[in-house]
Amino acid sequence: MTQSPQPPFPLGKAILDQAAALARFSDMEGGLTCAYLTPAHRAAQARLAEWMEAAGMQVRIDAIGNVIGRYAADPAVGEAARVLMTGSHFDTVRNGGRYDGRLGILLPVAVVGALNAAGIRLPYHFDVVGFAEEEGLRFKTSFLASSVLAGRFDPALLDRTDTDGVTLREALAASGLPGAGSIEALQAAAVDPATLHGFVEVHIEQGPVLLHHGLPLGVVTQIAGSSRFQVRVQGLASHAGTTPMTMRKDAAAAAAEMVLLVERRCAEVPTLVGTVGQLQVPNGSSNVIPAECVFSMDIRAGEDGIREAAIADIVAGIHAIAARRGLVAEVERVPPVNNAPCARWLMDQFGAVLKKRGLQAYELPSGAGHDAMMMQRITDVAMLFVRCGNAGISHNPLETITADDAQQAAEAFVDFLRHFQPRA
Ligand SMILES: [Zn+2]
Repeated sequence: MTQSPQPPFPLGKAILDQAAALARFSDMEGGLTCAYLTPAHRAAQARLAEWMEAAGMQVRIDAIGNVIGRYAADPAVGEAARVLMTGSHFDTVRNGGRYDGRLGILLPVAVVGALNAAGIRLPYHFDVVGFAEEEGLRFKTSFLASSVLAGRFDPALLDRTDTDGVTLREALAASGLPGAGSIEALQAAAVDPATLHGFVEVHIEQGPVLLHHGLPLGVVTQIAGSSRFQVRVQGLASHAGTTPMTMRKDAAAAAAEMVLLVERRCAEVPTLVGTVGQLQVPNGSSNVIPAECVFSMDIRAGEDGIREAAIADIVAGIHAIAARRGLVAEVERVPPVNNAPCARWLMDQFGAVLKKRGLQAYELPSGAGHDAMMMQRITDVAMLFVRCGNAGISHNPLETITADDAQQAAEAFVDFLRHFQPRA
């Protein structure tokens, strides 16, 4: 028996070069912004399709704009071949990093190119998805693209508008995408879960944990659920010069107390985090006591129970602070995203590959949401994290990885694909 040929390596630097090339399609000068269905976004989509074809894949673009490349199964497997799916998003946040999402498309495509060049077929269809939208920058709809693929698209989103007043429906109708935004086409773009082995996602860690431990790669245990809230504190406007301190109903001072409550409560549990990222005094002026203060609240934890207990305490605390000050607080909840656990059988296959390479099979949770979170609703998922340089900074132009780490990840991914065992 002859030894199978090994894929031509290295791929690490080529992956970084492609990320740099893709980052040149941007909505802004001097940085990377790639919002859903902008000209830059369409150009990135077209380039990904070209690269997938060049790697030896059959490519299609679905009704929401996902680019889906298939590396067809070894013909000997025949009709019975199921699909192992991978992918990540190619949209970005405003002035974002070039690896967030994109690494999880470029790396598998590079790996397919290497397998194809070496004449290596896999005993399953391997689909690489470039998800068109995950960050929610344009229409404030995170996981839009994966929700379509997972058959979880919410038609009410079609009425969402961007900052220019264009609805998602209008943007899709003008896009030239198949179905032109019809609900039927968006629903028909769902993948049949029965055809899937599972979904795996390669992603830059977007945090400092692997860097801190000196590890290039890590296996994700779960993707932390998040709950977001909009809190509105109603006080009473009055003159900043004439109203004694004891007679004020200052909405901003009350909100300040509430922000500190979020910080204090979320610091009590190591896996719990809480953030107030937006804080406003609408129509405020320097000489008027704030009548209203509006702030956002984002609370996440690896376990739904820990998150929900913290939320219950914080919401009760907000109302207690408001009552003590004679104010009214309204807490509005954006539907929560529940914790998505990764599948042990897939995690173990990534872990085995890392150990074989002399690496630690280090396991860590993901505090950020990912496309795998939506795919987990229909199939088993796992994620491979790649070390993030520059102290773990992400959603920022300083986000970086090294060619060596990309190389390690590509080699590990090849090994994973070639030894992949479907769930028994
Ligand atoms: Zn991402």
